Amino acid sequence: MEKLEQLYEGKAKKVFKTDDPQLLIVDYKDDATAFNGLKKGSIAGKGVINNQMSNRLMAKLEKQGVPTHFVQELSERETLVKKVSIVPLEVIIRNISAGSFAKRYGVEEGIVFDAPTIEFSYKNDELGDPLLNSYHALALKLATPQEIEIIKDYSFKVNDFLKAFWAECGVILVDFKLEFGRLADGTIVLADEISPDTCRLWDAKTHEKLDKDRFRRDLGGVEDAYAEIMKRLLDHDAQ
Ligand code: ADP
Ligand code: UDP
Repeated sequence: MEKLEQLYEGKAKKVFKTDDPQLLIVDYKDDATAFNGLKKGSIAGKGVINNQMSNRLMAKLEKQGVPTHFVQELSERETLVKKVSIVPLEVIIRNISAGSFAKRYGVEEGIVFDAPTIEFSYKNDELGDPLLNSYHALALKLATPQEIEIIKDYSFKVNDFLKAFWAECGVILVDFKLEFGRLADGTIVLADEISPDTCRLWDAKTHEKLDKDRFRRDLGGVEDAYAEIMKRLLDHDAQ
């Protein structure tokens, strides 16, 4: 499958057409941004890790009954995916307080919730991805009631699976962001990526951060953290 015209260049990936109108190629970059593009940088090797990690996790999720856009890994940085029309909602699931949750509600990071939380934000860079609830999403016609139910159901399934998977790797899944899309026939599938860019992942013993917070907060050791989390996954899968 060959890359044709570039459709889009985002902050972390480029998206290309292919000769099949139903399929796209995504190409993962090392570019990193935070705080809605205000902080810019590069994380050497990130594109390779995010591509390979996302593909492995999506393949596992397919087996758990969560449909995804993943089709085939083409190279270190490139993957063939099903073309979707992205539902403009960022779905965030949290197991432990961190980041904007801790800030918004004035609590410390690291509070373990009795049950996971779900929140949506409107995927709109100009507006800074504002938080909204499902009623707002319906009012704005971002998705139908049925789609929102499916998205919630899949998101919690993803959490149940990934939480248990990362625990087996000695890693705590703190929170993460998902994006969903519609195939040509309207079927909702998980799209975009699942990577250390989009998840908070803490070492289970030391609570060391093994994700993009090292970049956001200038903690150093960013490349090493990405390499370490990928190694945990590969070691797990090799067992
Ligand atoms: P951003 O747009 O936030 O800068 P990226 O750099 O990751 O993000 O760009 C990838 C873009 O491709 C995102 O807008 C994402 O929603 C979109 N996308 C992800 N998967 C698919 C897919 N299967 N079909 C169409 N678009 C997709
Ligand atoms: N997240 C993301 N993209 C976004 C916003 C958040 O991938 O545009 C992820 C982030 O990596 C974290 C989770 O979603 O794992 C929750 O992020 P939070 O709302 O705490 O926001 P942040 O601290 O990133 O501003």
